Amino acid sequence: MDDRETIAVLRERVIRFRDARNWEQFHDPKNLVMGLSIECAELQELFLWKSEPEVREMLEDDALRERLGEEMADIFVFLLYLTKGCGIDLSEALIKKLAVNEKKYPVETSYGSNKKYDQLEGA
Ligand SMILES: [Mg+2]
Repeated sequence: MDDRETIAVLRERVIRFRDARNWEQFHDPKNLVMGLSIECAELQELFLWKSEPEVREMLEDDALRERLGEEMADIFVFLLYLTKGCGIDLSEALIKKLAVNEKKYPVETSYGSNKKYDQLEGA
């Protein structure tokens, strides 16, 4: 489905959902950022105290993968509200950020490395 839906269509759907409930009045950027952060914590909670093998096992379990998808969707919904509320074009922001990261992390010095950009050779 990811290859069929656009961000614009998904944003329109969540905005329609929100507006039908008159919730925009609660959606100032500060509250949306807090909601986004809380949803990220809910996603983290699913992995909390799990070992790497347990996480791999989780990913084989359809019900747990469903829970992961629900929390990721919550995060995405908040991000869509936030981009709308702040007038941010998410695709444009992502493409710009990727260009910045390509400069910060040249393939020649970052390939296979887990170092932060300022620790890479030649930084
Ligand atoms: Mg949630």
